[in-house]
Amino acid sequence: MYRCASCGGLLEVRHDVGELKRRKPSEWRALFDSRLGRESGVWSKKEMVLPGLDSRNIVSLGEGNSPLIKSDGFAKSIGIDEVYIKQCGTSHTGSFKDLGMTVLVSMVNQIRSKVRAVACASTGDTSAAVSAYCAAAGIPSIVFLPQDKVTIAQLIQPIANGALTLSLDTDFDGCMKIVQEITKDGSVYLANSMNSLRVEGQKTISFEIVQQLGWQVPDVIVVPGGNLGNISAIGSGFFLMRELGLIDTLPRLVCAQTEKANPLYRSYRDGFRALEPMTAGNTMATAIQIGNPVSFEKAVKVLRATDGIVEQASEAELANAAAAVDRFGFFNDPQTGVALAATIKLAQAGKIPPASRVVVVSTAHGLKFADFKTRFHEGQIPGVNSLLPNPPIRLPADVEAVRKVINGRIPA
Ligand SMILES: *Cc1c(COP(=O)(O)O)cnc(C)c1O
Repeated sequence: MYRCASCGGLLEVRHDVGELKRRKPSEWRALFDSRLGRESGVWSKKEMVLPGLDSRNIVSLGEGNSPLIKSDGFAKSIGIDEVYIKQCGTSHTGSFKDLGMTVLVSMVNQIRSKVRAVACASTGDTSAAVSAYCAAAGIPSIVFLPQDKVTIAQLIQPIANGALTLSLDTDFDGCMKIVQEITKDGSVYLANSMNSLRVEGQKTISFEIVQQLGWQVPDVIVVPGGNLGNISAIGSGFFLMRELGLIDTLPRLVCAQTEKANPLYRSYRDGFRALEPMTAGNTMATAIQIGNPVSFEKAVKVLRATDGIVEQASEAELANAAAAVDRFGFFNDPQTGVALAATIKLAQAGKIPPASRVVVVSTAHGLKFADFKTRFHEGQIPGVNSLLPNPPIRLPADVEAVRKVINGRIPA
């Protein structure tokens, strides 16, 4: 059951806060710290994620515990005191989708006899996570992908893991409609983020950020948003931590959207007016090319409660932001490029003050989007002026020719 029978809204998990309060905040912190490095990032927070699950049913591929990397170079370049990048793409299938999928597939594992298969519509990364976790548990999976709108790296993952891979002649929103029909009778389990179990796993991103900062709350967290499950999950993690006294303030949440698929941004600009679904335009940030976000209401709720901001980025802005921050030793995917561009724009506009501690959530591994980066450096993205192109230099195998280029490019 994914929606409320009377209002049609998405369901939300409510934890037994009274039960969780039997441990003091200091005891929770000590317990979580004692588990660091010994369990998956998600299941080390099991009491706050899915307490009722029999631990023998956990299907884990070592998800979570992703690095929170401080970048002094990036911080300095935008005049902000402290900037961190939470590398959620450093994960089993290369995106944060693993965090939610371990919870969902573990639950399916527990009710196995009632479920024929697990299915999802995907912009690429969800299908990779579904197929990997289902394969690990020996559960059949079915993925619905929009034809020619996912990268080869994303497409090959479900194929390799043995999922039934259906490439439909439509966009993500079209795939979503079909998968909802197919899963209606309940025999095939729906793995999209309207399933609240995913949100429960993804909310550990906020626990990890706070824990990695020594149980301190950053001022601002910037998250790229498409279907808006992740921004909602991160918000709900902070609400729970505050309710339990693990933290006393909330960060300001920023959702970053591409100009080509910006229904939340349009709503925000008009004081969070009601969602007007749109047809998403083509964007390099394919994982957030979504015009009718299923978690819109949840996202608005967390943004309102955290005095949140929604910012948008153009194709040129996202590509150049990803490349600029790559120069500080990162390898950013285009969705993270949207979040980085939003961070840069908000810093320039003074909406993120200089004396801030900012965390940018990187959602996927750049290697999944190698083509995006290759085309950028070759200057071959139509309509995008590559500001930092660094194409390979073709030379004969000749020492003098090589020496000449090195001397011309690198100061002695
Ligand atoms: C799924 C995904 C997003 C968007 O998350 P939502 O929960 O749909 O807002 C962003 N980046 C990447 C790489 C993703 O796979």
